[in-house]
Amino acid sequence: MATATATLPYRQLYVNGRWCDAAGGQRMGVVSPATEEAFAEVAKGGRDDCRRAIAAAAAAMPAWMKLTAFDRAKILKKTADLLRERADQFARDMTMEQGKPLVESKGEVLQTADTFEWFAEEAKRAYGRIVPNSVPGKRHFVMHHPVGVVACIGPWNFPMSLQSRKIAPALAAGCTVVSKPASQTPLSTINIFDCLIDAGLPAGVANLVIGPASEIGDEFMANPLVRKVSFTGSTAVGKHLMRQAADTVKRLSLDLGGHAPFIVSPDADPEVVAKAAVLGKFRNNGQVCISPSRFFVHQDISKRFTEVAVEEAKKLKLGNGLDAGTQVGPMFEKKAMDNTLGLIADATGKGAACLTGGKRSAAFEKGYFFEPTILNGLSADAKVLSDEPFAPVMPILDFSKLDDVIAAANNTAYGLAAYVFTNDISVAFKMAEGLEAGIIGLNDPVPATPQCPFGGMKESGLGRELGSEGLQAYLETKYVSLKLRD
Ligand code: NAP
Repeated sequence: MATATATLPYRQLYVNGRWCDAAGGQRMGVVSPATEEAFAEVAKGGRDDCRRAIAAAAAAMPAWMKLTAFDRAKILKKTADLLRERADQFARDMTMEQGKPLVESKGEVLQTADTFEWFAEEAKRAYGRIVPNSVPGKRHFVMHHPVGVVACIGPWNFPMSLQSRKIAPALAAGCTVVSKPASQTPLSTINIFDCLIDAGLPAGVANLVIGPASEIGDEFMANPLVRKVSFTGSTAVGKHLMRQAADTVKRLSLDLGGHAPFIVSPDADPEVVAKAAVLGKFRNNGQVCISPSRFFVHQDISKRFTEVAVEEAKKLKLGNGLDAGTQVGPMFEKKAMDNTLGLIADATGKGAACLTGGKRSAAFEKGYFFEPTILNGLSADAKVLSDEPFAPVMPILDFSKLDDVIAAANNTAYGLAAYVFTNDISVAFKMAEGLEAGIIGLNDPVPATPQCPFGGMKESGLGRELGSEGLQAYLETKYVSLKLRD
């Protein structure tokens, strides 16, 4: 780690086992969404840095993949332990760069540790199989081989856990990596790297490049040494990467946008569910890929549900995420806030009622603080029902028939998450089977956990992270056929 040369703390890139400045010597600031001020600086890398990092990862690959899974697992487990030990400091860094309340940041650091631990264990379970032969004298085996150098690109909303879902399984599988965090939230990934290094990761096995997305992304996609790109971010960028991947037939894992339905069956308790809905919706200001964003509530209970949701949303304490008691921090950036205002204006312009919120909070002189917002009476063409909102906005829609609501919920290009609240097991199963989503929360507003697969159907992505699927995504399948001597 370099010492600060300016008044702000400064962190560098990590290439081939060394912290280093960007080749071009450039730096950029890390800005707090609560104060709108830079509080740290990082090296701003470019295409040359990225090329060096890929070459280092490729050179480190043969030795890393030859280590036993048990030896790789020791490093990942130690990384998990260090993340837990340092969780309080890492949570502060995350809140400073991303904005979410400390309690959510600490939860994310601990989930990152759990993810490293999960893949430390999964590394040991990359089993092959022996397949019965149909021709006498032949023997057939299926075994696994690491994919190769993996580029890991992550977004800003969960800056630590989403990088860990790529780095941990890739390293567990015997791949080497180059990580590119979102430019505005690099510190959380730097903190993962500090732990990996202190856990004894050999030089070149994991490399960190921070810098402009298009330059670094283009190098990842064009460089034949990169065999896989694992990306979490917007559907638009995911589609762009798919097009670029064609030239070198790169493997892709894509975790993209979502627009999750939240269905409340008439048998559910509207007060209990409204509280769960507010908890799920306003976590991280709705800037969550699996955030519920279309609330379908049965007409028999929608009045009570809406009253309680409005009461609960009004009670949420907005503030700097570093302050004790803050439940909702600032939105991440001005662009996101402006987009939210646009979606609300569009909805109300088309007849929706804004029951609470709807504007930037007047209580703060600086920072992107936005009042938790609830809308109802929306017209079907309101943009907030089709564009991924990624915002603290809860649109409530009444419905009358459970069969119709499945079709309405599926009427989107996305298919990441869906939520159903019911006490009727038959309704629960019909919904779980009928909804086109990779993750279904049944009476559960926060379903993600390291040991279960996470990912989307339709335009929400390709492949799954976490679970045992998360390791398979970094392994090629190799079939070996043996002809015995007569
Ligand atoms: P984004 O604009 O797509 O950026 C995500 C990452 O991709 C950032 O690191 C960004 O770098 C990089 N990037 C941008 N353009 C690129 C390009 N041309 N080539 C290579 N990399 C490029 O998304 P975001 O706004 O940060 O994140 C919000 C989106 O992520 C939402 O749509 C959300 O639903 C989705 N998301 C999905 C999941 C999931 O698991 N399905 C989880 C979380 C978020 P810079 O920061 O340098 O621009």
